[in-house]
Order: sequence, then C-alpha cells, then structure tokens
Amino acid sequence: MIPYGKQSISQDDINAVVKVLESEFLTQGPVVPLFENAVSKYCNAKFSVATSNATSALHLACLALGVSSGDIVWTSPITFVASANCARYCGAEVEFIDIDPFTYNISIELLSKKLAEARQNNVLPKVIIPVHLCGNSCDMEKIYDLAIEYGFKIIEDASHALGGKYKGNAVGSCLYSDITVFSLHPVKIITSGEGGLAITNNKKYAETMRRLRSHGISTDESMFIKHNKSEIWNYQQIELGFNYRMTDIQAALGLSQLDRLDEFVSRRNYLAERYQNKLSALPIQLPILTNKSYSSFHLYVIRLDLNACKRNQREFYDYMRSKNILVNIHYIPVYKHPYYQCIKNYMELKHAEQYFSEAITLPLFPDMTEVEQDEIVKCVTEACI
Ligand SMILES: *Cc1c(COP(=O)(O)O)cnc(C)c1O
Repeated sequence: MIPYGKQSISQDDINAVVKVLESEFLTQGPVVPLFENAVSKYCNAKFSVATSNATSALHLACLALGVSSGDIVWTSPITFVASANCARYCGAEVEFIDIDPFTYNISIELLSKKLAEARQNNVLPKVIIPVHLCGNSCDMEKIYDLAIEYGFKIIEDASHALGGKYKGNAVGSCLYSDITVFSLHPVKIITSGEGGLAITNNKKYAETMRRLRSHGISTDESMFIKHNKSEIWNYQQIELGFNYRMTDIQAALGLSQLDRLDEFVSRRNYLAERYQNKLSALPIQLPILTNKSYSSFHLYVIRLDLNACKRNQREFYDYMRSKNILVNIHYIPVYKHPYYQCIKNYMELKHAEQYFSEAITLPLFPDMTEVEQDEIVKCVTEACI
C-alpha cells in the first residue's frame, strides 16, 4: 500500500525524543525556544511561536491581528478547512476568492477586482489568508502591494510550504506578510507529531501570540494590572487565552527533523521532476511552477483531461485505490462543506469547481522509492489510456 504522504523518522529523531523523556521537562521547557530560534534562523525572520498545531497557530495569528466579530476574512476555497475556520473562531465572516486555473492558488487578478468592488461597497476584508497550495508560494509581492493599497493584513497559510522559497527567500521570512503559519503534522514537510509555528517580524504580534498560547497569562510584572505586594502574584491572566502550547517532546522531534528539511525538499523535487518526465505524454495537466517559486512539493496534484482520459475522476480514483495506491483529493472547496453551507449560501466558484472535478493527488514523500513511483506511473498510465 502506498499512501499519498508519510513522515520519515530517523534514529536521530528517536534519540532526540528519548532524551527529552529522560529529562526534567516534558511540556514546554528548554527545547521549545531552541526549536523556535532554529526555525526563525532558517526562515530569516525575527520571531517564531511554536504551538500545538497549525490550526491553533492560525487562530492565534487571527487574534494577534485583531480579527473579531463583524470583521471579514478572505481566503482560497481550495485549502484545508482550517484556513477558514480560524476566522470563524474569532467570529468573523469568511469569503472565498476563486483560484488561478494554473497555479491553483488564490487568483491575484480576481483578488484585485474583488477588492475594488469591496471598497465601493464598504466590505473590505481585515485579513487575507493566501494558501501556498502544494508548497508552491503565491505571488506574495503582488498580494502585499494590494495590502498596502487596501489596508488589509496578511497571514500566509504556509502549512505546505516549509522549506520552499519565493523570489529566493525562504517562505516564512514574512517579507510580504504579517504572519506566516507552518504545520508540523506528519504528512507535512517535517513533523513534530502534531505541531504548528507562527512566524513574524512584529514583536507585538509575537508577544500577543505567546501570551494567548498560554491562557492569556503573563508572568511579566510590568504587565500586571494592580496587585497587592503582600499577596503572592507570580502571574496574572490579562486576557482570555488558550492552552495551545507545544511540548518539549514535540519540539525535540521538530528540531531534529529540521536538520533534514532541505534534504526532504530536494528529494520531493527530484521525485516531482521524475513524475513530470514520466507522465508528460498522458492526457493530464501536471503541476505548473513559476520561476518565482521553489516549491516544497508537499503534494503532487494532477488534473485529468476528462475529454481525453479513459476514466472519469471517480473511476480513476477507485482504480488507483484498487491497486493499493492511496491517491487523494486536495481539496473539496471549503464552501461546499455542510458547516459552511449552513452559515451562508456561498456562490459556486468556477475554477474551484472545475479543479474539484479533475484533481487527483498522487503519492509523494521523501522515503518513496523509484520502484514505488514507477508502479504508480504504470497504474496512472493504465487508468488514463
Ligand atoms: C494541514 C493544514 C492545516 C492544519 O494543520 P494542523 O497542524 O493539522 O492543524 C492548515 N492549513 C492547511 C493548508 C493545511 O494543509
């Protein structure tokens, strides 16, 4: 059985975790800041806040940017539901902007058009959450220019894109955004079991996210609202926060995996190029990359040319699965889910709908062998022609 993605755990990773288990601290201790600093350094950004998962990091990012009820947040429809849910946790309304038919990322052209309309109707978004689908960065400079023009903030959902680059800079450098979020779920580029990271160059955002990660509690006396010095006040809860902390056990795994991040991404790119060569004659659209982006290739998504393929998407999916190749679909447009249908009658978005009817995710992960990949290529070929 070949899954669509899977973690790669080394003996070094295991040793790093065991070392924490034998140490003083299990939950947030000395390894969490070590991991945070290593990630900041890798991304060339000032602050990293490690969290229990990317969903909680996205929630903290929205809160740090002041998203609350009455606000509007825009994101892509072709993403995991967490990219939109974070805004809902804050009571904000979510709108979806259709994707670009080639990169499958949020369409910059449409974004620009919708922003002009929104300004006229006085319904501009407070925050836009571009998603780097499959690890391929959105054209962030263009989105940043729009942010300046229209006054919204940017959270990059880079859950897929750790180790990727945009215009030569690491995704996560936050050169064109306020906050960038990474996921460390086992199918993603590196893992900490469960885990997330919020990266920023803004000290205030970092402090807010750190405080909200730990119940909204501060141990900094200068933050304390009045307190009686004869009473023991070693912390105060300043605001309503959460327990979104990462443990030292998770951080140790993340830190150890970070050593192999570049190796993982280059292996993913090698295998993606191999797919590219072996599938190019088939009636399918292969991933299209721009020269601005070095993709981390979290996912390898193909689109079936339904006029030329022997099987439709459902039949293709079932055929591959019958051969024990666990192809998948990334993603069902978020607005189609019952929860989102319940809150609003979302309009169907043309490119997202077409993508949803043609896309298939082929397996891609660093430990996949060339023999396994050749088997996948053989089955894809049988399924198409
Ligand atoms: C995986 C993923 C998330 C959520 O990550 P968790 O760490 O599982 O919470 C959010 N957004 C996108 C695009 C993802 O792929």
